[in-house]
Amino acid sequence: MQVNNVDLTISAVEPKQYPATNYPEIALVGRSNVGKSSLTNVLINRRNFAHTSSQPGKTQTLNFYNVEDELYFVDVPGYGYAKVSKKERERFGKMIEEYLTTRQQLRGVIQLVDGRHKPTADDVSMYQWLAYYDIPTLIVGTKIDKVKPNARNRVKNDIIKTLELTSKTSLVLFSAVKKQGQDQVWNWIEQRIGE
Ligand code: GDP
Repeated sequence: MQVNNVDLTISAVEPKQYPATNYPEIALVGRSNVGKSSLTNVLINRRNFAHTSSQPGKTQTLNFYNVEDELYFVDVPGYGYAKVSKKERERFGKMIEEYLTTRQQLRGVIQLVDGRHKPTADDVSMYQWLAYYDIPTLIVGTKIDKVKPNARNRVKNDIIKTLELTSKTSLVLFSAVKKQGQDQVWNWIEQRIGE
């Protein structure tokens, strides 16, 4: 998709604020600092539209980015951030769960995992949760420019094994720095939104 126009429509904290449109939605989830803003910026062709985070875990709203009046990217708050209080975590957990399990417009979820390390226990829980609800999922291994080319197959295998990927889930290795993998991510999105 050629992207020229993107707006942050709303940072929502509750369902009644979600956009009333019927555009398909693709949600992005991942641990804080995994590279979610960087991936979003590459996908929409902007240098710093989705703010890359200096304060991990700060984004605690569902951010709906209108892309070309054709779809929304929905930036979901990063999980696994210890400094947020337990009460806050529960509140956001509930909001995320409600969005992901009830939103009719949701076509799929992109879950990011840090390609430099094995997926964490939080990554595994998140993925298993998405698989349990049978939500179409793309796993993106980020920061792959930091991994030597001859180690990238091992990274893939580690992700497949640790998350216990089902055959329905696709996996793409990605680098925001090298812009590697963006076509594969777009292909998956376009398939999901039925273009
Ligand atoms: P977010 O918290 O998930 O939105 O993560 P950000 O997109 O803000 O990225 C967190 C940090 O990782 C920043 O310092 C980015 O510059 C860095 N980063 C993100 N993507 C890449 C990548 O593909 N390669 C490298 N080398 N660094 C990256």
